[in-house]
Amino acid sequence: MPEQTGSDAFPRSRVILRQKLESLQRSGVQQLAKVPPSMTPIVQEVAVVAELPPERPRAPAPSRPAGAASGRPPAAAAGERPPLAATPPASSVAASDPRAPSAPPTPLAPGQRSAALDVIRREVIVCRRCAELAEKRTQTVFGAGNLQARLCFLGEAPGADEDRRGEPFVGPAGQLLDKIIAACTLRREDVYILNVLKCRPPGNRTPLPDEVANCRSFFERQLELIRPEFICCLGAVAAQTLLRTVVPVGQLRGKFHDYRGSQVVVTYHPSYLLRTPAMKRHTWDDMKMLMQAMGIPIPP
Ligand code: SF4
Repeated sequence: MPEQTGSDAFPRSRVILRQKLESLQRSGVQQLAKVPPSMTPIVQEVAVVAELPPERPRAPAPSRPAGAASGRPPAAAAGERPPLAATPPASSVAASDPRAPSAPPTPLAPGQRSAALDVIRREVIVCRRCAELAEKRTQTVFGAGNLQARLCFLGEAPGADEDRRGEPFVGPAGQLLDKIIAACTLRREDVYILNVLKCRPPGNRTPLPDEVANCRSFFERQLELIRPEFICCLGAVAAQTLLRTVVPVGQLRGKFHDYRGSQVVVTYHPSYLLRTPAMKRHTWDDMKMLMQAMGIPIPP
């Protein structure tokens, strides 16, 4: 085995640092400010992630039905986490570096996960990639919930109530989401809730493609840290953004999709359900499919 040189002594940190630099580059950052390394968020995050424990297997879902029965894609059912085309995960970058460890750096221990998410949160708070949204927001809405959740709900963007309180899904749509979660015999503190956009679009308009592209890296990094087994997309913006598709919600429902090894179910946004109560029965069908895959008994 060749002797390690000084520059090769910390290959894991090098790989993680390279990923973060590539992420910043994809976000349009061309040059880092010349400040002491201890002051830069990216170095703080690298420091946190570099202390990761070895990969530990995810606990199997209780009474989870076989992959074919749940509609789970074969690769995901086998426990693999295939990469997205546009954003290679840590494992694919590591595989190109013969000095890199083979195991991906996540999942993190709870304290490390919280610290790494706080690094992203601080980036979001000062983000001004979308000039109009940054100008008109009261505050950013990062996400909230159980950092070890098996299930994440991904919505579209903050509304007026969320913009005022800084938490996702706290208005009327949030109250309906609470009922949906309760119908699944779960509690809000069992799940993690986040949006595609972290800032409220004026007048609650649909997010623009540029805004979605600007904000994508934030929710992708949140999901990469939480690594939920299941993701429930609420509405077209969440589903089409996560799955990189233009297929309408009505055609995405009723089956599982894959996002980096997480099983994705698509249903209607609670705001749409408030306007169109007749569609609630379809969302209940989606939730029953989700509960069955999670091994949660379905109430009679
Ligand atoms: S929506 Fe996202 S990318 Fe745009 S300014 Fe807010 S935090 Fe930044």
